Amino acid sequence: MSLRGAFFPGGRRNWIQFPGVYVSDLRRFLDLPEDAPAPARNLADHFGNIVRAATAGGPGPAWVSALPCRRRPGRSRCPGRIVVLRSELRAQIEWGCDSCDDEGVISGWEGTQFDLRTPRPIRHLGAAGEVLVPDEVAAALRTLTLLDLDCQRLVYRATALDEGVALLADQEQFDELLGHLAAEANHEPNRRRQQRLDRSLAVLSSALREAGA
Ligand SMILES: [Zn+2]
Repeated sequence: MSLRGAFFPGGRRNWIQFPGVYVSDLRRFLDLPEDAPAPARNLADHFGNIVRAATAGGPGPAWVSALPCRRRPGRSRCPGRIVVLRSELRAQIEWGCDSCDDEGVISGWEGTQFDLRTPRPIRHLGAAGEVLVPDEVAAALRTLTLLDLDCQRLVYRATALDEGVALLADQEQFDELLGHLAAEANHEPNRRRQQRLDRSLAVLSSALREAGA
């Protein structure tokens, strides 16, 4: 099913098609009606996460984020990761899957809640360390709802490597992230999500201990 024009009454266009590339205006996705179909909501989440990843660090060359591709060719998940590019000169965020041909350009993201840039300079890192975690942990971290801006940046700067997902931060930021993770696991009424968060907490804590050793 094509999503184009499918979920806004009156056939308002959400996409402008350039040769081979879709430009989507994030503002169109911010106030989806209550009864918006799931594919529209999923797409809005996907675009929001791409903007978070692209704004978690400064502008620069394209890099491979930890975000999974949303495509499911033949009903199995595309194994690809989302490559993001935010250059200094262009207001648009470019993205593409590193495995399939899914790609696009996002505009209208500035000043939205997904924009993780900050007017103040990014806090200087102490002795920064890189910690490798499995995909499930990186995905669980993206579900945390009460992260401050620094922690959100840490989570969305996560880079996909062959051997796992790399998180880069200093000890203080990692401690803050662990605190958020523990607190949210503690207050989670859903047993399955709580177990998922607890497992992630255990894995991240031991990865940090190993990295510090
Ligand atoms: Zn893909």
